[in-house]
Amino acid sequence: MTTPASPSLETVRVGNADFPRRRLISGTPPLDRLGNLSGRDGRAPIYVKRDDLTGLGLGGNKVRKLEFYTGHALAQGCDTMIITGAVQSNYVRVTAAAACAAGLDCHIQLEDRVAGMDAGYRTGGNVLLDRMFGATLHHLPADASEADADAGLDAIADDLRAEGRRPYVIHLGATFEPRGALGYVLGAREILDQIAQAGITVTQVVTASGSGLTHSGLLTGLRLAGSNLPVTGVCVRRDAVQQRARVTEVCANLGKLIGRPDLVGPEDVIVTDRFLAPGYGKNSPQSWGAFLAAARQEGLLLDPVYTSKSFAGALAMADDKGAMAGGAVLYLHTGGLPALFAYEAAIDAALAAADPQSNQ
Ligand SMILES: *Cc1c(COP(=O)(O)O)cnc(C)c1O
Repeated sequence: MTTPASPSLETVRVGNADFPRRRLISGTPPLDRLGNLSGRDGRAPIYVKRDDLTGLGLGGNKVRKLEFYTGHALAQGCDTMIITGAVQSNYVRVTAAAACAAGLDCHIQLEDRVAGMDAGYRTGGNVLLDRMFGATLHHLPADASEADADAGLDAIADDLRAEGRRPYVIHLGATFEPRGALGYVLGAREILDQIAQAGITVTQVVTASGSGLTHSGLLTGLRLAGSNLPVTGVCVRRDAVQQRARVTEVCANLGKLIGRPDLVGPEDVIVTDRFLAPGYGKNSPQSWGAFLAAARQEGLLLDPVYTSKSFAGALAMADDKGAMAGGAVLYLHTGGLPALFAYEAAIDAALAAADPQSNQ
């Protein structure tokens, strides 16, 4: 049930609580069956939920989160969004775009998380888009912790308040209110409706798991809708032990936020770090293989930070007959495609390794 407060700001009920939302997605990203990678050599069918096509500012999973952060900022009368992320963060890029759509200013703090990258990484891809959206960029030194990053955001907010501005801070740490995950609580309902409409049997869901908001939102939304579908989170930044603890914590905070602390148990939180190596923003031959298979056998683009790894996880799941039990994989494509143009050197090297004979 929705109650419009203004043409663009509405109130939506999630679980037992109401939240302001600023709509940023028009329409429903499709659920597509992969025509060539599905069913091959006994592999289960793979359906892709195309959240790379959420639209705003080149899209991705962050648009669903920003509907709730932007709604909250507007409802409180804030005038500036503040966010932190890796240099090639999709989150900060979509925040900058959402701020433009909602008529807010945006300050971005960029963290140097990936070693040994070139000028294209520093100024191209998402950074180019951040600048196009008119965001003010700040920089945080390499190897700053998550707490340092959040402290940096609070310092920027203090400076803005001293100038009479009303900042809205989107913190990074897992202890903060996971409001953005509400986007995927509702997204889970949308996915279940699409599965029902398509008349297919899905037995496994696979997604990237970074901050854990997408993973936690999806899992919570499925349970809220009465579905017991397992969700496997593919680690992109932390090992399985750390990530399981993080997602469990985010699910607990999300359960409190929506007044349904009963939905997700510890046994529901499934993560794998089989595809994490060599680390954040870097790929193994296996994740590059998944990245190229999607491009060359489906014409489907993945990104080199998140979905190369999560799609490798989806392929491995589809090949696991025991886990699939005769059903299909639902793979959540979380987007990230602008980073392709900032990882050109790394992608070049992956292409050279894949096609050693060709002249690159
Ligand atoms: C941020 C991001 C993720 C991870 O989502 P979380 O909600 O932070 O776990 C996955 N894929 C892409 C492309 C992203 O930009």
